[in-house]
Amino acid sequence: MTSSPTSIIWFRNDLRLDDHTALHYAVENKHTVIPVFLWSPQTEGRWAPGGATQWWLHHALTSLSEQLEALGSRLILRSGNDEGSLLKDLLNETGAEHIFWNRRYDPNGVKTDTQLKKDLPAKSFRGNLLFEPHQIANQQGDFYKVFTPFYKAMLAQGDFSDPVDAPHTLKSPQKWPESLSIDDLGLLPSIKWDQDFYNTWDPGLNGCNEQIEAFLDEAAGIYKDKRDFPGIKGTSRLSPYLHFGQVSSRRLWHQAQEAAERGSKRGGIEAWTRQLVWRDFATHLLFHQPQLDWEPMQEKFADFPWKKNDKLLKAWQRGETGYPIIDAGMRELWATGWMHNRVRMIVASFLVKDLLIHWREGALWFWDTLVDADLANNSFGWQWAGGCGADAAPYFRIFNPILQSKKFDTEGTYIRRWIPELREVDSKDIHAPWEMDRPPIHYPAPIIDHSKARDRALEALSSLKD
Ligand SMILES: Cc1cc2nc3c(=O)[nH]c(=O)nc-3n(C[C@H](O)[C@H](O)[C@H](O)COP(=O)(O)OP(=O)(O)OC[C@H]3O[C@@H](n4cnc5c(N)ncnc54)[C@H](O)[C@@H]3O)c2cc1C
Repeated sequence: MTSSPTSIIWFRNDLRLDDHTALHYAVENKHTVIPVFLWSPQTEGRWAPGGATQWWLHHALTSLSEQLEALGSRLILRSGNDEGSLLKDLLNETGAEHIFWNRRYDPNGVKTDTQLKKDLPAKSFRGNLLFEPHQIANQQGDFYKVFTPFYKAMLAQGDFSDPVDAPHTLKSPQKWPESLSIDDLGLLPSIKWDQDFYNTWDPGLNGCNEQIEAFLDEAAGIYKDKRDFPGIKGTSRLSPYLHFGQVSSRRLWHQAQEAAERGSKRGGIEAWTRQLVWRDFATHLLFHQPQLDWEPMQEKFADFPWKKNDKLLKAWQRGETGYPIIDAGMRELWATGWMHNRVRMIVASFLVKDLLIHWREGALWFWDTLVDADLANNSFGWQWAGGCGADAAPYFRIFNPILQSKKFDTEGTYIRRWIPELREVDSKDIHAPWEMDRPPIHYPAPIIDHSKARDRALEALSSLKD
């Protein structure tokens, strides 16, 4: 009897068993499977995972490891700064003939994939997008730089192929290679700043499934009308699970379509699946323009006179700008590792346009503090806010933090949740407390006058040459 081939399945940003194309291929071909995760933050350069994503990763790996154990398998963990050598060691130790993985589309991921495929008996599979970046091109064969045509082109493709199911069993090797423990990776913080993370999130598969169910059964119904209101749970909060690939976006797309067929939330579902396409679009742009994480997409911004001001930057980071909606967002971010999308746009506009601080500073802070920190989405969001990206906010669009607050948090529910100093303030005063006869003494005065800052930004921005 011939023994079955053995393959190493290298898990990366696809920490799931469901709709895992590389794993599915190995199982379909009756391979013995050795699941592996490599911790090699050094290979990611400046985009090594930040504190909040490391916290999430610890729990996502724990969950994946439990799922594998339930199938009689294991997750082998290794750490080091050269993924190629780590994989070669594993090939030698196990006698495996193949390495399979799902593709990454960010610059570091693409570089690693290309290099390792030259050196190793490797095969890669489609990654965690609805369509791979090369599948959507305009009539000239070029990539799209504007969302709506990209969206239309994707819908026109029509073939949203079916996700593949998780395996029921896995063939394991007779002898397992050595493995580190998850704790050995040192992902959890030594100073316990993560208490609220535990109160906010269940970062494993159960939490993911509960969140999907809750969203499709309830919030999807209000998504279209309420997704911009940070005081309401009107969005899915699935971004960290999507970033770590604990659920595939293809699976979500199909579940959403099924939910729409069952119920009456079609408008909400359509608006929401459109956001999944924004996710594809952001990755598509970074794939085709790998410098987008650091360089402005519109070249005319290259010499923009950004201001360096550590004091103002710190006030923004700590949620002490004196603008309640900004401070509520920045404090939500610090406490929970997440911030509502509308508020991300408002705080980003404030940093970039009111304070004239470079969007890279904002992107770096988000990188360290967001549990969903994702290079494509984060770079895209910051370039958009800076007015220098694809489909960007036009330069003269400068969010007014007071009007945004009145419009999207009218009663101040969100502000009161995150700023205890303002809990007793009336809704009519809460958006601009410095205008009260007796402003609350423990809350800071505004660090900048918005209308003057706006004039200054308009002057700087309008001087940019087309
Ligand atoms: C300055 C800035 C920085 C951002 N940084 C990140 C980041 O690091 N990681 C991240 O996942 N998102 C980022 N976003 C996009 C967006 O804010 C989050 O994806 C969203 O708030 C996540 O909440 P949700 O899961 O409830 O979203 P939902 O509204 O339920 O949307 C479902 C999914 O669609 C995707 N999505 C939604 N909005 C966007 C968008 N504008 N661009 C790309 N994909 C989107 C996300 O994967 C999200 O989980 C950023 C936005 C801005 C303005």
